[in-house]
Amino acid sequence: MRVIDDLLRNADRYATDPEHGYHATDKTAEPGRGLAIVACMDARLRLFSLLGLDEGDAHIIRNAGGVVTDDVIRSLSVSQHVLNTVDVLVIQHTDCGLTKTTDEAFDALMREHAGHRPSWGLRTITDLEASVRESVASIRESPFLVHRGEVRGAIFDVATGELTEVS
Ligand code: ZN
Repeated sequence: MRVIDDLLRNADRYATDPEHGYHATDKTAEPGRGLAIVACMDARLRLFSLLGLDEGDAHIIRNAGGVVTDDVIRSLSVSQHVLNTVDVLVIQHTDCGLTKTTDEAFDALMREHAGHRPSWGLRTITDLEASVRESVASIRESPFLVHRGEVRGAIFDVATGELTEVS
């Protein structure tokens, strides 16, 4: 069984399951809790369960590391200016894939694979708390965002399931 076939079959059930399926037909594109989350793509981070979110509550912007790139600012810009979110929570986590290589090593890997280096940097993480603070600061300082609400950051511990705010 190919994994995507399995997913598509699950999705067929999702549309019609009254208990665990889709139930946001009365919601709009504006997140009901005025919230955007920036988080790592890590497969262990189940954000809706972790944060007690429901469909329609929040924008979820995910990438490798949960670091703030130009594309994260692009998404937050439309989230705030067009869809009226106000608060931003950044979530990075222990045992992140971005702590397992270096920018230099990954750059060399990309050059070997593609024949040239990418226009983007991987943004590897050495100090997790510093990385969360840097991401929060990048959002607070972006001239494209509105800053009407709070911008806060936290670290998820994949060993315990605990989320700890970085002040
Ligand atoms: Zn990660």
